[in-house]
Order: sequence, then structure tokens, then C-alpha cells
Amino acid sequence: MRSFTYSRAPSIGAATEIAANGAHVIAGGTTLIDLMKIGVMQPEGLVDINGIGELEGYTIEADRMRFGALTKMSTVADDQDVVDAFPALSEALWKAASPQLRNMATLGGNILQRTRCPYFRDTAFAQCNKRNPGSGCAALDGGETNLHAILGGSEACVAMYPGDLAQTLVAFDAEVSTRGPGGTRIIPFAKLHVRPGDDPHTETILEPGEIVTEISLPVIPAMKNSYYLKARDRESYAFASASAAVGVEMDGNIVRDVRIGLGGVASVPWRANEAEDSLRGQPLTEESARNAGRVAFADAEPLEGSSYKIQLGADVVAGALMAVKSRMGGK
Ligand code: SF4
Repeated sequence: MRSFTYSRAPSIGAATEIAANGAHVIAGGTTLIDLMKIGVMQPEGLVDINGIGELEGYTIEADRMRFGALTKMSTVADDQDVVDAFPALSEALWKAASPQLRNMATLGGNILQRTRCPYFRDTAFAQCNKRNPGSGCAALDGGETNLHAILGGSEACVAMYPGDLAQTLVAFDAEVSTRGPGGTRIIPFAKLHVRPGDDPHTETILEPGEIVTEISLPVIPAMKNSYYLKARDRESYAFASASAAVGVEMDGNIVRDVRIGLGGVASVPWRANEAEDSLRGQPLTEESARNAGRVAFADAEPLEGSSYKIQLGADVVAGALMAVKSRMGGK
């Protein structure tokens, strides 16, 4: 058994100081404890941020939504104001994990969850550039690749980002507020995660000791007409094979604004910018939705095991767009 230190931080300042000295931040613990039990993460110390009041709670205002990093997934998923203002956000949270996990897991922890690549999670496999930099990649070296990314991977790692919430955040221009030894900063959500490149070990731009304090989003018309569609192996408690968070603002029969975030298919939360461009200024029809799906995966680089995700992902994008259209009364 490995020993580690544990301390409970009374404030954000104390937490950043302890974390900057090497301790790992723990909140809901639903990912971290799991990875510690299987030996994938072995921190020397933990700093518990539960109980720091200013990290909890959220507000839904006319122009901006703000969520404290310690807010529980289930609390936000169930809130009728969230359901009314931004249905895709509620749906993404509802379709993530199990009820027990949603009651424990925090929004801040959720966006920082780590890949489900089976070789990353099994220390019996020596080859994993993410867990053990420079060791190689068991997936790319003849392993199973059906759970892996077809967008944004590299020759060093093709691990898939596994979350659901993040797709809604990247598509709707969310920002993340942080506090660290260097002070506070606001990071566009689209820049928080980094693609694996040559260094899959580095997953975000967060500095040592830097803690996510808040997630916020501008309120835009496309949020009201939004939907989160998730394709997975079973109906509950499964990670996405492909998912899409979409939102649409119409001007008569023409798409004025559209947002498309992809999950289950990429190394990081993925915004399908070209697919959005293909729809803006066009009618929203089965044909234009299917074309957007094709465009979203035009640059995909699948491996043998993950090639099915191109058609599945395109179908999920089209299906989510048609679901939004149906929600708008078929306009
Ligand atoms: Fe490790 Fe990435 Fe390869 Fe999986 S895909 S074995 S996480 S390097």
C-alpha cells in the first residue's frame, strides 16, 4: 500500500498553495480515487477542496450562466431553469455516468476527467505515453482501437476524451475561471484541453497549483433550441461511442446561428466549426443536416477499430440537428 498525505483546504488560496507543492486536488473524487485504486495515479498528497463555500452554487442570469466548480452534476441536471434555458446542458449531465456518480461528481472535476483508454487504465501494459511518457502506445502498436479518437489524435496517442458536459461547453463558448499561484485567469474552454501531440501526458494548460473555480457561458439564443444526443453501447452508464451537443437559432426558415460540439470521437472536446459553417445561412433540412454530419468528419483519421465512428458520428450530428428541428415545431 502506498501512503499519501491528506489535508483539507479552508480557502482557495490555501488549496492553491498546497497543490503548488505537489498535492493533487480532490473534490468529488469519482475519477481520482478510482485511478489511485488501480495504481494509475499515485499522488504524494491530496488537498481536499470540499467545503470551500465560494466554489459552490450557480446563477442563471439573462446574459450569463455561472457554475461554481464544486457544484454537483445532479444539481444542475435537475434544475428546471437550466432545463428551460439550455436543455442540452441538462441532457449531457443526465446522460453521463450513473445517478450515484452524478450525486458525487462536481462540474470542475467532470471537465478534467481522464481518458478511458483501457491501456492507460491497466498498469500491466507498459506501453502508454500518457501514463508513462516515452514508453510507446499499446493501442497504436496493434491493440484494440474501437474506443479511440478519430479526430485530434497523434502518432504518440489516440486516446479519446470521454466526457459529455464538455461538448456543450466547447460548442457554446464557455470560459473557465481559475486561481493559482500566479493569480486568477479566465481561459476559453476551447483552449483548456490540449491535443496529445508528442506529449500525451499533458492534458490541459493548467499550471501546477492552478484550480478551476468557475465555469461560465454567455446566454445566446441557440441555447434554447439545443439537444444532446449520445450513442453508446448501452442505454445507461456508458461512455459515448459518438455524441453531439447542438444548438440552433433560426431566422425564419434559415439557420442564423448553429453550434456543434462532438464527443466520443476526439482527443479533446471538439467543436465542428466547418460543419457549423456549412449550415449557417441554409435551411435546416434532413439533407443539410446530413451534409453537416459528413463535413464534421471529413478530416477524420480512423484506425481499423475506430472506422465505424465516421458514419456513426455523422448520423449522430444529423440526428441531433433533426431533434432540435422537431423541438422547434418542425420549422
Ligand atoms: Fe496510452 Fe494514449 Fe496509447 Fe491509450 S492511446 S495506450 S492513453 S498513449
